[in-house]
Amino acid sequence: MTIALSVHGGAGVYPPEQMQSAQEGCLAGLLVGWNILQSNGSALDAVEAVVRTLEDNPLFNAGTGSYLTREGNIEMDAGIMDGEMFRVGAVAAVELIKNPIVLARKVLASPQVLLVGCGAQQFALEQGMSLCTREDLLTERVYTRWQQKRAAQVPEVEQKHGTVGAVAVDSAGRLAAATSTGGPMNKYPGRVGDSPLVGCGFYADRIAAISSTGYGEDFVRFLIARRAAEYAGQGYPVQLAAEEAMAFMTMHTSETGGLIMVDAQGNVGFAKTSLHMSYASMSDRMVEPEIGI
Ligand code: ASP
Repeated sequence: MTIALSVHGGAGVYPPEQMQSAQEGCLAGLLVGWNILQSNGSALDAVEAVVRTLEDNPLFNAGTGSYLTREGNIEMDAGIMDGEMFRVGAVAAVELIKNPIVLARKVLASPQVLLVGCGAQQFALEQGMSLCTREDLLTERVYTRWQQKRAAQVPEVEQKHGTVGAVAVDSAGRLAAATSTGGPMNKYPGRVGDSPLVGCGFYADRIAAISSTGYGEDFVRFLIARRAAEYAGQGYPVQLAAEEAMAFMTMHTSETGGLIMVDAQGNVGFAKTSLHMSYASMSDRMVEPEIGI
């Protein structure tokens, strides 16, 4: 069986000084997941570990480095899916959790699919996780940009990037997907995007796994991750399935984004309509990882 892993660091417009580090961050996450897959670990463990690594990287808008709401709080969304058993775990608008993807994985192992806000926090405590402070998650760069945004000094388009995600197929042919985000800068309190919604910001079945990023409301409206999976189910190669899903979005909205995809045969697909989207991919058919933005 071919193992494959693809990682993204969010779609949007990256400032030139962050382009290199975003790609390096994706690569670092990829290597963590790749080690797991290479030692016959599961796709689910690999995508969780990748996303956790990217959440801990303050460069990305997920976990540490998450953007702020209008009220200056940090409300995070994350989702993870095991395509083999169709198990799903997600958390939305959760505060004071260092690694929302770890909490989402614990939800996956529970009878629930999605927990939000205070309930998600309560569940974290019951699971033995501890709460962090807002300051643990907040970076100076994000705080400064939030202040600039509030003073309307930074155009909206420059703010949108940094959501993270991963998709993998393991040596047993099992697929998994994971996505984590702080959401858009200065978002309305309680706003939930596509990232914790199955079929929107992430999806996995026995044919393909998808993680998406971009203008969340439209990824929800058009069920982009599920749409990409359906194209793969109809026999489209994953690259074409990824492109068709994004093309469908473009037909209906001017908003942008992108997605990564792998199938059970270890083929990797990538499509974006935004200017940039940092990513890294590897399969055991490739000599070395591919990175880009
Ligand atoms: N899709 C994310 C959201 O709307 C944001 C992003 O991917 O940049 O919350």
